[in-house]
Amino acid sequence: MNFDFSEAEQAFAEEVRRFLRANPLETFPVDGMDAGYGSGANSRAFLKALGAQGWLSMCWPTTYGGREQPMFMKLVLMEELALAGAPFGPLAGCWQTADAIIEYGTERLRREVLPAIARGEATFWQGYSEPDAGSDLLALKTEARRDGDHYLLSGHKIWSSHAGIATCGLVFARTSRESRRSRGFSMFVVPNGTPGMDIRPIRSLTGEVYHHEVFLDDVRVPVDLMLGPEGEGFQALLNGLDADRFWGRFYKAPALARVLRQLVDYANTTGGSAPLSRDPVVRRRLAAIAADIAALRLIFYRTGCLIRDGAPLTYETAMAKVYADETGQKLARLGMDLLGVWGPLRESSRWAKLGGQISHLYLTTLGHTIAGGTAEILRTSIAVRGLGLPAEPRAAAEPKAR
Ligand SMILES: Cc1cc2nc3c(=O)[nH]c(=O)nc-3n(C[C@H](O)[C@H](O)[C@H](O)COP(=O)(O)OP(=O)(O)OC[C@H]3O[C@@H](n4cnc5c(N)ncnc54)[C@H](O)[C@@H]3O)c2cc1C
Repeated sequence: MNFDFSEAEQAFAEEVRRFLRANPLETFPVDGMDAGYGSGANSRAFLKALGAQGWLSMCWPTTYGGREQPMFMKLVLMEELALAGAPFGPLAGCWQTADAIIEYGTERLRREVLPAIARGEATFWQGYSEPDAGSDLLALKTEARRDGDHYLLSGHKIWSSHAGIATCGLVFARTSRESRRSRGFSMFVVPNGTPGMDIRPIRSLTGEVYHHEVFLDDVRVPVDLMLGPEGEGFQALLNGLDADRFWGRFYKAPALARVLRQLVDYANTTGGSAPLSRDPVVRRRLAAIAADIAALRLIFYRTGCLIRDGAPLTYETAMAKVYADETGQKLARLGMDLLGVWGPLRESSRWAKLGGQISHLYLTTLGHTIAGGTAEILRTSIAVRGLGLPAEPRAAAEPKAR
């Protein structure tokens, strides 16, 4: 088994590093903060600069303006961007949506949306969750009623990340009431600003806005903005969730490795003649998390190999996601412990250590084991599909009557 990058991949990694040296990150205005996944902040300008390099569409078929590069080039790009702390926030969502459009999008989506993604002009939010539909997503109430060559979407979405700064929503809605539970749902690409769409911010623990409620009141969406055939949206949803777990977390290992490097420097340079790095507990915890991050990277590359080879995914993205999100929380806790009294200070404090990013990481990573499928739900998936355990846990024994 050879874990090395090919010569072409190494040459591309070097090309990305050259690009980052030639385009200092501070020169790109930021439109939204990193929500702690390690994808960096949201910067439209940076996304457009990636588009100008041809990197957003490099793996697409030539028919759609791509260069048919192997999928691993995307991993090389993401890893370099995450190691550098670049503001590539919307990238994973763009790639996920593009792949779905290439696989089962209409001609209109391919003609209009793919070029906008390639240029770095189109970004996406996911409108799946609702106030009464999270883990049990099929309990959702948003409806899409056919009206000539349009659908009218009505409902209430919640927790939609970055809906306020993205250009389009991927809205999952009910198109009919079929007897089979997983049928009768469809996915729509809905441009922000369509009349009847009201996006309201939800302030998060950090005080920043990542999440939104989206109210849909008879939002008119042309039929050819539906992603896949009517009523078959459940498969699009499952593919989207798998893709989100992989592409939306792949860069956690390099991003966490970058934070770990800063914590190691901090431990080496803090404490004067008795630096933190000589403390056996600190050393053990730093070493343990270094192993976690190395294992995390391998889990993602292994899953990446399966995706590249077209192998069916069952539990693999669930395992990768749980491990990524829990490792992020573990590193954030370690960082808070190392920084001690300085830990909770925010970016705005002149006393903050490491730019206040550890308290930011701590607060943002708390929600990660909920987003995109909770750790409990994903562990069930690993138990059932990965280990072959029965789907339903054994009911607790009834207490015996005396
Ligand atoms: C940071 C963040 C970003 C998000 N971004 C988006 C987004 O962009 N788009 C979007 O649509 N949604 C988004 N969400 C919403 C997210 O997908 C839901 O919160 C998640 O699916 C859980 O749903 P819920 O909140 O309704 O909790 P519930 O489903 O009500 O679950 C509550 C608790 O019960 C547990 N539970 C539920 N059912 C079971 C079961 N069968 N077995 C064991 N335990 C169970 C859960 O694990 C959880 O601990 C985001 C959430 C967060 C925190």
